Amino acid sequence: MARKKLDPQEFNLPSQSVGYSVCEWETDGHRCRYPGSMSTNMGGTGPWYCRLHYGCKDPIFGAQIIQASMDYKHPTPEEIDAEARRKSTEYCQKIGMTRRENESPEAYAIRRKQWLKEKFSTALKVAA
Ligand SMILES: [Zn+2]
Repeated sequence: MARKKLDPQEFNLPSQSVGYSVCEWETDGHRCRYPGSMSTNMGGTGPWYCRLHYGCKDPIFGAQIIQASMDYKHPTPEEIDAEARRKSTEYCQKIGMTRRENESPEAYAIRRKQWLKEKFSTALKVAA
């Protein structure tokens, strides 16, 4: 069954959102506004629930979660990208992988990629 596309304005979604990414828990005609990111269905068809409604068995607690979710505003793709960049920069600074003086952005990107490759190859050896 195809999922119903949601009204971005009603669900505080960014206007360019496809409108499917909201928790599917409903109580008395009200639907949760939190991101629906968890499902027991491994096929990808849902139903999708937020981390609070996932596995929730208590309808009263479920209704309280919906009430708390009403003012939740979903981030825009630009906000999601900015947060990912911020975390990446913060992590690179933490491990000392900052851009060297006179290093071109391309050379810095190659050095970061090489560092990740080495780190990943070590992780694979440990797992094997
Ligand atoms: Zn929910």
